[in-house]
Amino acid sequence: MQGILKERVKQVFKNGTDHFDMSCDTPSTSGSVSQRACVFCGSRVVLYPIADAVHLVHGPIGCASYTWDIRGALSSGPELHRYSFSTDLKEKEVIFGGEKKLEESIVYLAKRFKPKAVFVYSTCIIGIIGDDVERVCKQATENIGIQIIPVHSEGFKGTKKDGYKAACSAIFRLIGTGKGTKPKKPSINILGEFNLAGESWIIKNYYKQMGVHIQSVMTGDSRIEAISNAHLADLNVVQCSGSMLSLAKMMEEKYNIPYTHVSYFGIEDTAAALYEVAKHFGNPEIIKNTKELVTKEISQLTAILNEYKIKLQGKKAAVYVGGAFKAFSLVKALARIGMEVVIAGSQTGNKDDYNQLPNMCRPGTIIVDDSNPLELSRFVQERDADLFVGGVKERPLAMKLGLGFCDHNHERKIPLAGFEGMKNFAQEIYISVMSPVWKFHEFRQKKQIGGQND
Ligand code: SF4
Repeated sequence: MQGILKERVKQVFKNGTDHFDMSCDTPSTSGSVSQRACVFCGSRVVLYPIADAVHLVHGPIGCASYTWDIRGALSSGPELHRYSFSTDLKEKEVIFGGEKKLEESIVYLAKRFKPKAVFVYSTCIIGIIGDDVERVCKQATENIGIQIIPVHSEGFKGTKKDGYKAACSAIFRLIGTGKGTKPKKPSINILGEFNLAGESWIIKNYYKQMGVHIQSVMTGDSRIEAISNAHLADLNVVQCSGSMLSLAKMMEEKYNIPYTHVSYFGIEDTAAALYEVAKHFGNPEIIKNTKELVTKEISQLTAILNEYKIKLQGKKAAVYVGGAFKAFSLVKALARIGMEVVIAGSQTGNKDDYNQLPNMCRPGTIIVDDSNPLELSRFVQERDADLFVGGVKERPLAMKLGLGFCDHNHERKIPLAGFEGMKNFAQEIYISVMSPVWKFHEFRQKKQIGGQND
């Protein structure tokens, strides 16, 4: 494809035209200005929603700007996670070491806020100056009597995916430390669900209706105690595979808990997720409850979605999200409301993910890994998209180009998971794509004039 950095030509394909062999799961190309975040941010994504823990960023104050304001995660109880604590390292600590300041910060925060645990995130500078965060946390755990858990998330040491792994390792230290007893009902842990806008509550409610006990959610609206007893569950149900698959694998190895991989975006995938769990337990009562639940929800939703489908038929969408598994669900969900996906990509998809994507997309769809703003803007214009589904970093791009936008990530304020989420999704897309405001957008007007002159 023309106009792509030569180092990236194996990460951009036109479906059905180019020979598809995606090169992915690699560090970003220097100078490409990737949309990915750093290792530390990857860890924050996973751990941040734990609401009764203190999250202490060990580093300069700039790193701590990645706060609840950027990625809100709802809690039904404590809200300690909304603070952004930092050791605020200055030149003096960078030269002479920051361990003393870290020790003092932990003691102060534990006394002042009485958290159930403290996560200490290492940032780039800690990797450079070599503070022994592991030792400080071990010592503080013994002195204070709560778990002080180091998160080895030095920003430069890999991709956002390495941050997910660092977070999973931190959670894994907690699991098995609880004193709970095995639940009587079939039970699951929900992994990779972060309750950004209340999705965990919707999903938990489905499982409750099915007769399945939720042992823990990792990590949406979660508590340290629930996580410490997560080893008592019968099954791990992983939604965001990129972020939590490594934890599911570690739990399978140590606690013999099997895992399954699902998605709660779109009606087909939500129904498939619930049936998958019901089938795993094979309990006739759970299977019956699941069938009733899914039938009722789909029958209520079908007429509503059909109406949106008539109105949105033929509109084109660009999808660029964190994990490729989410992109699959979005391609299906958008097709359900009559839209065609013309660009599909992700920041952290792996080879298996990408090998499935061409079969779901129409010929001509641009499939891209680890893209950048210049590429995305070009693709959107080239394919004349009406909508962009992405995250916080794609929002300004869509706004500048005058097309509808749906935040399917950090900043969403309405839940998009489950059957209820599909209804919200369709409504949001409709409002955004059909908004009259685009007629007055400078870029769109220029395009129209250009088109007329042609
Ligand atoms: S950890 Fe490093 S890359 Fe990440 S925000 Fe801090 S300085 Fe930037």
